[in-house]
Amino acid sequence: MKPSQFNYVRPATLEQAIAALAAAAGEGKIIAGGQSLMPMMNFRLVSPALLIDINRIKELDFLEEQAGGLRIGALTRHHTLETSSLVKRLFPVLSAAMAHVAHLAIRNRGTIGGSISHADPAAELPMMMLLLEARITAVSPRGKRVIDAADFFLAALTSDVQEDEIVTEISLPALPAGAGWAFEEVARRPGDYALAAVGVILTQEQGRAAQVRIGVMGVGDTPMRLPDAEAVLNGQACDEQSLDAVVAAVRNSVQPDGDLHASGDYRRHLVGVLVRRAVKDAWKRAQANAKG
Ligand SMILES: Cc1cc2nc3c(=O)[nH]c(=O)nc-3n(C[C@H](O)[C@H](O)[C@H](O)COP(=O)(O)OP(=O)(O)OC[C@H]3O[C@@H](n4cnc5c(N)ncnc54)[C@H](O)[C@@H]3O)c2cc1C
Repeated sequence: MKPSQFNYVRPATLEQAIAALAAAAGEGKIIAGGQSLMPMMNFRLVSPALLIDINRIKELDFLEEQAGGLRIGALTRHHTLETSSLVKRLFPVLSAAMAHVAHLAIRNRGTIGGSISHADPAAELPMMMLLLEARITAVSPRGKRVIDAADFFLAALTSDVQEDEIVTEISLPALPAGAGWAFEEVARRPGDYALAAVGVILTQEQGRAAQVRIGVMGVGDTPMRLPDAEAVLNGQACDEQSLDAVVAAVRNSVQPDGDLHASGDYRRHLVGVLVRRAVKDAWKRAQANAKG
């Protein structure tokens, strides 16, 4: 199918883009990589009267280390996040997750701002934002707003970005010293959206897990952190008994629906399997960091 007729502008500055979006009064849409918006327009699920192309706005395309954390411009491509040495050094879990996003051609175009604004429940970046405790900056004629990732993903395909707002940057605070990490995903074919995926970050303190974070996706309308399961593992040695307990807590915390690709029961089982693998891997890395 082809999209409905639309007008198109390509502003050179953020100010011009904000003004164009405001002037469109709810009938305009930002286009970044176009990898989600164009299919939706082709299927006529959305029919904006105006597309505002932000690809030439240089100030939205940057990666910058800040106090051991990272500032990421909204226009940063998935492939850059996957391959950047800065991201690999500071947030290796993010580089690892990006390799699972779609295919290279899509990763070359898709942007972090587009992915999180789109808020697909099976997309890797929204879950990474929760896991990495990101803060997201959005601007509009009303000013600048900084939103915690925990408040950003409202429902399937619904983020907190308002119709006159543009996401400009994502800020990731430094990980705890010595943190181990892991990312695990199952998709039916390489490049497909995930059936389920899990990210884990933890440290090891005196032989026990600490500062545990568990993020999951594909098992609800939005990505989730699982505080009950995190609490089960915090303060425990990572042995088979605590792995069993954390897997049980994870499965109790999610209520996935079934769909064309997998039943709800299968997804609940799968997310437990992935959490077990990810916790073991993160633990090994944290142990190596504690020794090293
Ligand atoms: C075949 C296929 C397979 C895919 N598989 C995966 C996958 O496995 N995992 C995955 O995560 N993704 C997958 N994607 C989606 C891809 O990663 C998209 O690139 C991403 O979801 C959207 O980013 P974009 O820059 O292309 O956004 P666009 O398509 O340009 O925009 C998406 C939405 O976000 C809004 N938007 C964009 N930028 C901003 C901004 N800065 N501020 C405010 N609103 C903004 C747009 O108005 C639009 O509503 C797949 C896509 C395709 C076509």
